[in-house]
Amino acid sequence: MTEYQIALAYLSALTIVCLVLFSFTYFLPTPENANKAKSTYFFRILLLFVIASQTAILFRYEHPAIVSILLGNLFILWISYTLMCAIYSRYDVNIVNKHYWLIAMHSVVFVSGLYFVSQITELAYLRSVYVLLNIFLPFCLTIHQCHQQFKKHRIGDRVLYCSLLVTILLYLAYLFCLSVFFRDQFFAPITLIFIILLSFVCILFFGFALSIIYSLVGKLRKELITDRLTGVKNRNYFTDISQQLMSMAKRANTPLSLIVCDIDWFKKINDTYGHAAGDKVLIDFSKNIKEALRVEDVFIRIGGEEFIIMLPQINLESAVLVAERLRLSIDLLPINVGVESIHITASFGVAEVDVNNTIDHSVNNADGALYEAKRSGRNKVVAFKS
Ligand code: GH3
Ligand code: MG
Ligand code: MG
Repeated sequence: MTEYQIALAYLSALTIVCLVLFSFTYFLPTPENANKAKSTYFFRILLLFVIASQTAILFRYEHPAIVSILLGNLFILWISYTLMCAIYSRYDVNIVNKHYWLIAMHSVVFVSGLYFVSQITELAYLRSVYVLLNIFLPFCLTIHQCHQQFKKHRIGDRVLYCSLLVTILLYLAYLFCLSVFFRDQFFAPITLIFIILLSFVCILFFGFALSIIYSLVGKLRKELITDRLTGVKNRNYFTDISQQLMSMAKRANTPLSLIVCDIDWFKKINDTYGHAAGDKVLIDFSKNIKEALRVEDVFIRIGGEEFIIMLPQINLESAVLVAERLRLSIDLLPINVGVESIHITASFGVAEVDVNNTIDHSVNNADGALYEAKRSGRNKVVAFKS
């Protein structure tokens, strides 16, 4: 087998891998945000550039060496820029025309410089050092962008960040091999280039795919515990958080209180102003309550026009004061629906959570107090007394 045939075999293998990964990208979930969705599109271009850079190697056998050197390395530069664009779009940073012009200008300067370097040295590893200095800029920008996301502690972003660091290590390993084992060579060995490119696409693809999948799983998980209409937490969340808050209160021996609230005569609002107006009431009501609570308080739409508030480190007396404050703020809240302004009130039942019993037990207690508030005229706060 001649070296040309081996290079051809490597190109075929890499093309197959890239095309398989290329088609896989169509099965990845598409982010809703148009800018973020572009990152998959950049990743596909990157795969094509990888094939192109491997193809450029073939030029060394039939054309003047400089053609293969300039083309191959230009594609390497473009791979690093498309990677940068993919990561930028992934994190919703817009790529505008100005950026493409800068990339084009850098490409021209890069090729001219590489031509000059090739004239003064015959050594592959020195050319690779020059290439490293040039891809340093897009790589640093990419890593910087990823590093900012890394701080947000999302597992998908961390996977992507780590895979990027590994690809940098790969290029450094390539440089090391060239400068130590193939120091006198005019061309980098085709096997080394093949191994590096293959590892590069595989690591990057899995980092990229895992990052997208993880962020979608995170989004789904968030949707699962969020009420679509009001944006506050829903009943699913209540099941988990109530257990957590109860065990924290038990461990720290601190009080934990619960408020159940229900909008008064809500059916009448729907019947008089329509269902859309009812929805607007629910949205404004939730926003108002949420803003009046502390960050550590948990506000949940349990269903319909019924809500639960959990107040860590608050005893029954203080919880009654909180509920009274909320009741007053709702009583004073004008809700604008079209030209009309709707006045609403709500009733509140308060109970201190018995951490040695089930959460349902305490919810029933607060519900009993709420029933009492409704029965005695509504727009009231009633505390459960054991
Ligand atoms: P009370 O003062 O005794 O609580 O009376 P109420 O009318 O508020 O209570 P009732 O349980 O009779 O009616 C609740 C209504 O809430 C009935 C239901 O159609 C309406 N509802 C439940 N979910 C939604 C929603 O998401 N949007 C709207 N617009 N209405 C809803
Ligand atoms: Mg009601
Ligand atoms: Mg109700």
